[in-house]
Amino acid sequence: MTSGGAALLHPLSLSSAHVAFTGRAEGDMGHGGGPVRDVRPDVAARRRAVVDLPWTWLRQVHGAEVVRVDGPGDAAGAQADAVVTAEAGCAIAVLTADCAPVALASAEGVIGVAHAGWRGVVAGVIDATVQEMRALGATEIEALIGPCIRPECYAFGSDDLEQVAAVLGDGVRATTSAGDPALDLPAAVHTALVAAGVDPSATADIGVCTACSPHYFSWRARGELQRQAAVIWR
Ligand SMILES: [Zn+2]
Repeated sequence: MTSGGAALLHPLSLSSAHVAFTGRAEGDMGHGGGPVRDVRPDVAARRRAVVDLPWTWLRQVHGAEVVRVDGPGDAAGAQADAVVTAEAGCAIAVLTADCAPVALASAEGVIGVAHAGWRGVVAGVIDATVQEMRALGATEIEALIGPCIRPECYAFGSDDLEQVAAVLGDGVRATTSAGDPALDLPAAVHTALVAAGVDPSATADIGVCTACSPHYFSWRARGELQRQAAVIWR
């Protein structure tokens, strides 16, 4: 899919949680190159305008580390690519500008969110997130894939594509609108979710491409340094 409407700020429904995917309209949610523990006041205000709870965000490194949060705002700025909690009142978030944000929730009230670029997916960030949720008591898990770059815009080197396909299968191979080899990142995420035991019928994808929708920041398409947020809470 190639376009989307305004950013999906309004909470979407997972079984036991609220999810918001911000976009350009909500402004830069990222911490730029500065010290991650000193979030600029304007960024903090924009985050609280989305959900007025203490946020746990991450210093993302395209790995598979998952942080467990036991209270509101815990572990803010931790180096990791996913965060989970079983507690209410915790706004847990990842920041993206083409990588896939994945929000997860279970009926038991365990929630999670993962930053899933291709390196992180290959490294196992989706499986690690699901397993950490299970360790907190989650049984059946729902997942929602947010705004990310889509294959029509995601030309991908053949060596890297072989690496992803070796882990996640040939379903990740795609073609750009210009006819070049592409990675289907949401397909890679979906495959990883199912491999981690998430029922395919419990997965959804909002289907918006950050690169060709004007409503989202994109590093690949426009070299933008701003970040949109995917935040989940209950
Ligand atoms: Zn696109």
